[in-house]
Parts: sequence; C-alpha cells; structure tokens
Amino acid sequence: MKNGLLFGTAGTPLSSKSRSSVDGIRRIRELGLDCMEIEFVRGVNMGQNTARDVIQVAIENGIKLSVHAPYFINLNASDREKLNASRERILKSARICAVCGGSDVVVHAGFYLKNTPGKAYRTIAGQLKELSDILSAENAGVTLRVEVSGKSRQFGSLTEVLSLSTEIDGVAPCIDFSHQHAREGKDNTYDEFVIILQRVEKRLGREGLDNLHLHVSGIEYTDNGEKKHLNLQQSDFNYVELLRALKDFDAKGRVICESPNLEGDAVLLKEIYMAMS
Ligand SMILES: [Zn+2]
Repeated sequence: MKNGLLFGTAGTPLSSKSRSSVDGIRRIRELGLDCMEIEFVRGVNMGQNTARDVIQVAIENGIKLSVHAPYFINLNASDREKLNASRERILKSARICAVCGGSDVVVHAGFYLKNTPGKAYRTIAGQLKELSDILSAENAGVTLRVEVSGKSRQFGSLTEVLSLSTEIDGVAPCIDFSHQHAREGKDNTYDEFVIILQRVEKRLGREGLDNLHLHVSGIEYTDNGEKKHLNLQQSDFNYVELLRALKDFDAKGRVICESPNLEGDAVLLKEIYMAMS
C-alpha cells in the first residue's frame, strides 16, 4: 500500500550522530520516517558544498526535503532595509533548498504592525508574487509555503494563507494545525479538522489535498495564541482525530513534527496513521 502521507521532523532528529543535516537524513531513514525539514530559522547557514552532499544523501536514502526560512522575516515591513533583508532571506533559503533537492520553503510572511489586515495582505501578496516570479525565472523548482501563524498579531490566518495560495503561482499553504488551534482557541476536534480540509479543497481543489504541507506539535497557548510547543502527549492537541480526518480525506503530502521531542512524536504520528484503516 502506498503512503498517502509522509512523516518527518523539523530539523535533524535529536538522536542523530551529529547535528548535521546529512546525519539527520540518515537518522530519518533509520527511524523509518520519510522526510525532513531543514531549519534555517536562525539564518541560512548552509553553503553550496554541504547542500550538494545533502542532495546526494537524501536521494540515496529516499528522504524528501523541505526548508524552513528564517523567523526574521517581515514582508510587511515599512523600513526598506528590513524589507530587502526579508526578501533576501527567503531567496537565499529557496536557492539552497533547490541545491539540496528540496521542494518546499516554509515562510512566516510577516506581521500586521499598524496596518489593517487587508492592507497587510495586499503588501505581502505583492512581495510574494515578486519573489515567486524571481524564483520561477531561475527555475528553482520550489514552492513557497506560507505558514498559518500561531499568534493573532502575526500575519497568516488560514483564510489569508489560502487566498495567497489561490492568487499566486508558486505559493501554497503550510497548514500548522497546532498554530491554528492556538490562534483560534478551537479547531481541535474531528469535525473542525474536516471543515479545514474542506476549505482547502474548496479553494485549491483536490490538488490542494494531494499536496499538503503540515506542521504538527503539542502546543501551549494563551488568548494571544501560541506560547510554546509541547510534546503531543503533554498537550491538549487532538492529534489522533487530526490523523483520522486526514485519512478519511485520503490526504497526501507531508507532516512535519515540531514537538520538542521531534522524532518521538513524528514516529508516534506515523505509527498511529499507519495503523488506521
Ligand atoms: Zn514555522
């Protein structure tokens, strides 16, 4: 039976021989996982030579790769310098991702600051369109995955992310179900997960459900949203019902686990999913 969903970790598994991405990929394979997201969240710290090693090891081990761009990005920044630095961080992440053979670059698009959500949306959409055009002119072959954010002051509601994905070629959603739960204070039951998947299908068609990029972890939150990530079993996040909904929709794509125990929860999610009929 072919797997609908691939499971992996956000960054090199904790039990890898070293912190390198190459050792991380080998460990993903040993753990029986399928994919890995390379974390450039504090900066793009990989050179071309390492990236060429990474693609080779990923191919040898049959592991699919994606990249998470730095956190310090605000495509809604009014300061020109900050905006240009944000654009460069995305382009640099995407270019290295392409050399690694990765297909998707996860991006936190920015903050509303003092703008209305509508104005922030238009600014960010304009920037993403330009970035996507640059990358497609370079034949980078990567999709920019705008992430659903975990905080209400941070751009990236599910509605915004789905609209960007409909409007701009080369942009698709990264649905972080834990963020969505923390941001909205709900969206943690089978029926609510179903509604989210129906919204994806309505906006992006069956194709959207065949090529999902998901983030999952336990999460602690306040009225303002995300506070910190937790291991799944220490949180209230209803991951079994999420997996059930994904299975019932025959959803395909990748599930990246961002729990503090990384591979512990990634393996847990995969085992539960594989046991479902
Ligand atoms: Zn993220």
